[in-house]
Order: sequence, then structure tokens, then C-alpha cells
Amino acid sequence: MYYHSTRSLQPQVDSAQAVLNGLAPDGGLYVPQQLPDIDVQALLQMDTCAMAETIIGALLPDIPNMDRLVHNAYSGKFTAPDLTPTVQAGDFTVLELFHGPTSAFKDVALCMLPQLLTAARAEKGMQEDILILTATSGDTGKAALEGFKDVPGTKICVFYPHGGVSAVQRAQMATQEGNNVTVLAVEGNFDDTQTGVKNIFATVGNEKTPGGARLSTANSINIGRLAPQITYYFKAYADLLHAGKIQMGEKVNFCVPTGNFGDILAGFLAKKLGLPVGRLVCASNANNVLTDFIETGVYDRRRPLHKTISPSMDILVSSNLERLLYLLSEDTALVAGLMQKLNTEGVYTVPESLHQAIRQEFWAGCCDDEKTRQTIGRVFRQTGYLCDTHTATGWAVAEDYRAETKDPTPMVVLSTASPYKFPAAVLSALEQTDCTDEFMQMDRLQELTGIAIPAPLAAVRAKKERHTEVIAREDMLNKVLHL
Ligand SMILES: *Cc1c(COP(=O)(O)O)cnc(C)c1O
Repeated sequence: MYYHSTRSLQPQVDSAQAVLNGLAPDGGLYVPQQLPDIDVQALLQMDTCAMAETIIGALLPDIPNMDRLVHNAYSGKFTAPDLTPTVQAGDFTVLELFHGPTSAFKDVALCMLPQLLTAARAEKGMQEDILILTATSGDTGKAALEGFKDVPGTKICVFYPHGGVSAVQRAQMATQEGNNVTVLAVEGNFDDTQTGVKNIFATVGNEKTPGGARLSTANSINIGRLAPQITYYFKAYADLLHAGKIQMGEKVNFCVPTGNFGDILAGFLAKKLGLPVGRLVCASNANNVLTDFIETGVYDRRRPLHKTISPSMDILVSSNLERLLYLLSEDTALVAGLMQKLNTEGVYTVPESLHQAIRQEFWAGCCDDEKTRQTIGRVFRQTGYLCDTHTATGWAVAEDYRAETKDPTPMVVLSTASPYKFPAAVLSALEQTDCTDEFMQMDRLQELTGIAIPAPLAAVRAKKERHTEVIAREDMLNKVLHL
């Protein structure tokens, strides 16, 4: 199966090469030339791993032994046997994506990506090691470290802003085990760190590092990170079907707390592959670029970035939106032009027909920190369900959607992190507190709610810190060259 860029139809590469390349040479994102045919009825009868094998295998057919890769990726790593369970809470079905090694939804894709990358590397006869570089504001770095640790043929180096991540997130990374991992705190903020990583890519490019590796990223622009996320939309639908809540073919809506637009795009791909999806509801925090875009057709990044209590959604340029623009317009010249405008002017407007197509598939809303806290408190009191801050934005926007549209279609809210990853914000939503130690906040939250702290997060506390080095921004390249 061939892939091409969202910005041009040539050159075409096979699916293994698309995974290895990550980004297309013209800066666009890889999209399949045509989507595979999948027997949806059969798929909905499978267990989660068999679903993953079928879906990822259909999208990336040039990567062999998908059954073994899926097994290696997931077996023994998730605390839920079906990986991504659904639970009923109030009027909604919650799809819990946080039962993996780092308690955030990125685990679903980042457990799988190392398997796909190393298999693609073998398929293409590439000899060199792959060195993954990641700048993280918290969640991605840890999930990537867990995914790549001790994977033969790979090394990983994660940079995070010194003082810029939560205490729990820092402890998760500082205690990381594995023989191929490096974790470095960088003096500066997240933007400095990310710029530093971009500069390393610009300097090293496709050359081998002195250590003989080629650089790659674990970022969600890679089709190998997107494909594994499609599975859980089918899984949630199958759960509703088997519980007798819907009949085969009946539509289901999904509400997705959104940042880079990767997760919700996977939902759109599930629909294109034949899953009966009604509306995809895009939830943002105070950084509501996407809400404005879906309502008006104007994407305008020229605004301040707000730091919120749902930090994984603090983003102004949602990379994967580019894939949606292509999939709905099938016009690479149009997409190339829009991305050029975004780059030079910081704003673009899509043609009216494309805007209408987007509005038919998506609905958007946003939720500020105040409303996020209120939602966590109210939902817990009313239903006993404890949302993390990201999930709470989704819940609040799903309620707004229902209130405004009166659409009675069953709604699945995606739960993207454990509430224990953000204990300060979640605890403050439930009670007045002046406790500032995040691990004590976790204990208090457990005492208050009776909901157990996820084992991997509880374990972090007792683990030895292995990575405590803080470096200057100027030293990032030098560090990488010596790996
Ligand atoms: C990354 C992340 C999101 C946003 O997902 P995108 O694919 O970037 O839209 C939402 N919630 C949590 C907890 C995350 O880590």
C-alpha cells in the first residue's frame, strides 16, 4: 500500500518506508493513497489485540508479522486485560485509555511504535540504530521512554524543561529504567527545549551520528503512531454492542479531549474504515484555536498560549489537522497552500465547501480551568466517576453538545489520563487543600475517593532516581553526538 504527502502526490513510498520517514520530504504528513477494505462485522467480534492486528496490518501491510508485533507491544504492559476498557458513568460511556505503563493514552500508540519502527527498519535492510529524540512537556516523554526502553536497535533521548513538568511527571522520567535511555532536564521552558531538538535535527539531518545512529522522533505526525489509536474506537463500539446498548449499524458519537488532533483524527479514520460514527466532538481547553476553526473555517494561531491545568492540550498548531484537510478535500495543492499561509502569516481560511464538510463530521467546544475543576467535582459527586483534567474538558464539552443539539445518539467520552497524573488540580477540584507535595496529594485523593492509585504511578515513589542531570540549552547537541 502506498503513501504520499498531504502536500503532493509524489513521491510515493510503501507503508514501511512511511513509518521510517515519519515526515514526508516536503514537510507534509503521510496519507494512504486509498483506505483498505475491512470487514467491520468480523472486526467487532474480535478481542482488542486481534482488532489491533487487523487494523494496523491493513494500514501498514508492508510491515510483516503484525501478530507478533502487537503481542510484543501490549502483552503484560496494561493493567486491563482488554487494554482500553469502557465504563458507564452518568449519561456517558467513558473509554479509559490510561491503563498502560505511564497512565496516559499515549501508551496505546507508543508501546506499538517501537515495534513498527524496528520491523520497518529490518524490512528495509537498514543497518544503523534508530535514535529517538523527544522534547516533552510531560506525557509524551515518559510514554516514549517506556515504549522504547531496551528495544534492540533503538536508543532514546528525552529532553524536558527543568522545573517545567509536574513533580509526578519528573519522578516518572527520573526513575526510568532501561539500557538505551537518556533523560535530560534542560534549563529553559518547553519552547526552548523543542527548539533545541529541532536544531539538532536541522544540524544532523539524515547523516549518521558519531555513534552510528540515525535520528527519528516519537511525535504523533508518524503514521505508525496514528494507526494504533484507531483500534480503541472499534473496541468501544464493540463494548456497547455486546452490552446491548446499541444495535449493529447504529451510530455512536465520540468526544475527544484534543491537542495535536491525533487522537480525534484516529476516530475519523475509524469512521472512514466503516465504523458507524455520528459526530466527532472536539474538546479544547482555554487554547481554543480548534473550536474557532471548526466554527468559522479560519485557523488563527496568532494568539497567546495559555498554560492550563490540562497541559497536554496546551497547543496552538495542531499538526494532524493537516491530514483531515487532505482527507476531506483530496487536494494536495490546496493543503500545501494553506500550510504555507500558516507558516508565513499564522492564519488561513479554508474554502466554504471544505468548511461545510468539516462541520458535518465535527462539532467543537472549549472549557476553561474554572469549568474543568467544577466538572471534576460535580461529576464525582453525581456519578462517582473521577475524571482527570483532560477528560473533564471532554466531559464538559460533551454535555454542551447534548444541551445545544439535543442529539440523543450514545456518547463515548475518551478518558486520556489517570486523575492521579494531575493530583494537584484534581484534588483542588474536590476539596480545599494546602498540601503541595504531589505524592501526598495522591494519597489524599485515594483516601477521599476510594479509587486506587495506578500501580505504576504508586511504584515511582519507591524507585531510585537515575537521571538527574540538568544541562544548558547550548549543550543539547553535544549530548546527542556522544550517545
Ligand atoms: C496528548 C494528550 C491529549 C491530546 O491528544 P492529541 O492526540 O494531541 O490531540 C489529551 N489528553 C492527554 C492526557 C494527553 O496526554
